[in-house]
Amino acid sequence: MRLARAIAVFAFAVACLIATNALVRTPHASVSANTGASAAADDIAARAHKLHFSTYVIDTHDDTTQRFLSKSNFDLSKRYNDGSIDIPRMREGGMNGIFFSIWIDGKTMGPEAIRQALDQIDLVRTNVAKYPKDIVLCRTAEEVRRAHAQNKIAALMGVEGGHMIGNDIHIVNVFADLGVRYMTLSHFYNTEWSDSSTDKPAHNGLTDFGKEVVREMNRDGIMVDISHVSDKTFYDALEISKAPLIASHSSCRAICDHVRDMSDDMIKALAAKGGVIQINYEKSFIDQAYKDAYAKASGGVVQHLDELKKKCGDDGECFEREMKKDEEKLIAEGKLPHVTWEKVVEHIDHAVKLVGADHVGLGSDFDGANMPEGLEDASKLPIITEALMRKGYSDSDIRKILGENTLRVMEAAEKVSAEMKAQNP
Ligand SMILES: [Zn+2]
Repeated sequence: MRLARAIAVFAFAVACLIATNALVRTPHASVSANTGASAAADDIAARAHKLHFSTYVIDTHDDTTQRFLSKSNFDLSKRYNDGSIDIPRMREGGMNGIFFSIWIDGKTMGPEAIRQALDQIDLVRTNVAKYPKDIVLCRTAEEVRRAHAQNKIAALMGVEGGHMIGNDIHIVNVFADLGVRYMTLSHFYNTEWSDSSTDKPAHNGLTDFGKEVVREMNRDGIMVDISHVSDKTFYDALEISKAPLIASHSSCRAICDHVRDMSDDMIKALAAKGGVIQINYEKSFIDQAYKDAYAKASGGVVQHLDELKKKCGDDGECFEREMKKDEEKLIAEGKLPHVTWEKVVEHIDHAVKLVGADHVGLGSDFDGANMPEGLEDASKLPIITEALMRKGYSDSDIRKILGENTLRVMEAAEKVSAEMKAQNP
């Protein structure tokens, strides 16, 4: 037994707000109309396909690690009907870079948090190592490029929550040595040194120790991730960090006013220092009507999850099943609107109009959130490329959004690390 799985699943659901997987599995859609598409439209579809399958497509946040944990026989090489990520569907959707998220409940602290994080890092490494022809663990941008040249998927790791260092700064070094390439400063709850966006402010952003953690991450070449953190923590991290930051899975508040998303001012400040906002696909982060309707229909997400907890106890599978059923029922009753994949493109476009294509990327939250119709899994990704092309985006801008921006920030973090180590070995 690696963990009390069901408890973890419950906590995970609370943390992610909603943990159901895809509800409606639509066939691979095309952006163009089904009938009467002009020759020009067909040309765009063909060009988009060619571009998508020849470039880096890197997703900075996937919770597939939880599937390694909850399904002891989960096989990354097998095509599943549930969840969003496996090698066949990544291949089908041209996704060739993935950050596996290392996540544990934010209430678990100290040595136990470190132990569980190391356990998950081991799980990712072991599962990736099983399929060396298809997927390879990468630590640097150069290694990602090499993997791509060999037609292999680049597997990377991000630690989702600073609580996993157990207040021991040396654990940052251990994570770096094991291949972790970003760390989210806090998750659903505050850590003892950084405030979360979904908790009551306790530290007015980052404490002095929190700032030390950011500097240590810079030194180790671990990207600083500000998804989930409070606005003040974001601004503190932005000021302290020598390397650009990422928001590994956040969307735009201007379209959906959620604390997990970023305001226009924050996106501008992030971009001004070279950072990237990686757009999250979770329905309640991208669609205001859905977010409001869900809160109304369920009496609030947290209360709803408490009710399910009473019904299912610690049975994680019951939990997921019931949540899925509830959402289907609410949609059928017209109490929840449908949210489709175009909303994701709307967020990308908003951020690009605000700060340019150099500062926007993809951070789906696959296998950890509630995906919009049409983007239920990795196989559907080419639709984003086609939609951006139809909006008139240049090939070069699309390549940046799909993956090159992430590689650029990785390289910047590696450079800062090398400089800091050279100055102070
Ligand atoms: Zn998250």
